[in-house]
Amino acid sequence: MPTQIDQHGVSLSLPKRSGCIVQTGESRMTTVPKFVIGNWKMQARHEHGLQLARDVSRRLKDTPPPAHLHTIICPPFTQLDGVNQALKTADLPHERLALGAQDCYPASSGPFTGDISAPMIRDLGARYVILGHSERRQNHGETDAIIRQKVKAATAAGLVPIVCIGEHLAERNEGRAASVLSTQIEGSLTRGFRGILAYEPVWAIGSGITPSREELQRKLTLIRALLPMRLMTDDIRVPVLYGGSVTAVQAPSIMSIEAVDGVLVGSASLEAQSFLDIIDAAAEATLPQPSP
Ligand code: PEP
Repeated sequence: MPTQIDQHGVSLSLPKRSGCIVQTGESRMTTVPKFVIGNWKMQARHEHGLQLARDVSRRLKDTPPPAHLHTIICPPFTQLDGVNQALKTADLPHERLALGAQDCYPASSGPFTGDISAPMIRDLGARYVILGHSERRQNHGETDAIIRQKVKAATAAGLVPIVCIGEHLAERNEGRAASVLSTQIEGSLTRGFRGILAYEPVWAIGSGITPSREELQRKLTLIRALLPMRLMTDDIRVPVLYGGSVTAVQAPSIMSIEAVDGVLVGSASLEAQSFLDIIDAAAEATLPQPSP
């Protein structure tokens, strides 16, 4: 089991799957990794993206958050190489700050004009890829079956898939959220899925509205109950994130919900300070607690 010393002089043993055991001089603490993921979407032109990556990586290098907090930034394809270079310059371990893409094609190569494959993304230093975002489901007609093929392709290329699921407002209001989430989990994840799941209610994305703590707790508990049925095991702990209009104001409350393993951030990840404020809030809200 690899051991690291973090900036607080805390030694960390990182088991492969579940969580980390944090050992201090005084007490033993347990925690699971938490994630803050920035999805730039089709935003941030070249110079803006590079500056954003430099600002975020410099700050995380100078004042690192606790080691259980993993930050991932997902620029558009055209920015992957430049941002990768910026992250390399900052020389941070990838557990602290990693690169992700926003989509990939299911095939690894071939006559698919305009598409980008998972191995191509991997070539550019990315470790993660967002799949099944509602904007792709909506604007590109992506079905659960297509998303599952992409999950397979990403995994085969050594990328960690970040799969998005979430119901529309009408589905929620008609009391159909549970069946929508169940169908999406069943359809878009592979058996034995090794990746991250992001619950992103479509009505919360870009709307400035976030679900109440009670609703979030209920939905994430449901998702956690559905996962072992799809994975055919309860051995794998899939991190479950929330996404939709997250800012530094709601981040502490969202991150303090036990079932929440992190946040997927859209608009607020496009400005270094607002993204860093979310990272700081997430770190603060999830500091490891002494085990009983
Ligand atoms: C998203 O689209 O993944 C997202 C979370 O967007 P926003 O934070 O802007 O609602």
